[in-house]
Amino acid sequence: MNTFKIKTLRTTKTHIDYERYQRTPRFPACYICSAKPIKTYTRWKLIENEFPYDEVATKNDMIVPLRHGTEDELTKEDLREFEEIKKDINDKYDMILENTHKQKSIPGHFHLHLLQIKEREVRA
Ligand SMILES: [Zn+2]
Repeated sequence: MNTFKIKTLRTTKTHIDYERYQRTPRFPACYICSAKPIKTYTRWKLIENEFPYDEVATKNDMIVPLRHGTEDELTKEDLREFEEIKKDINDKYDMILENTHKQKSIPGHFHLHLLQIKEREVRA
């Protein structure tokens, strides 16, 4: 068995499943565009991350614009509504996480990760 290092917030199993999924050609090409919403806003939707950051989180959803596009393509109206959505989701998640460009696996469709962080027992 070969060992190698990876940077991921996923468990090894989820990471391997994710890499396999990425190598599989599919239609439609953009997972975010085709993902069923948990909740729909005027310009955004809340979707589940099919390959969650399960090493660190018990829940990993994503907030994404309905329209396919990069961060640079967001309009003032998009950003205004996002500020409202942040208030709506503030008590439902612990963290909003944005990957830098080199870690983005879907750079063509802007998305932010919403995380409920795993609890762990601490002895002090
Ligand atoms: Zn898309």
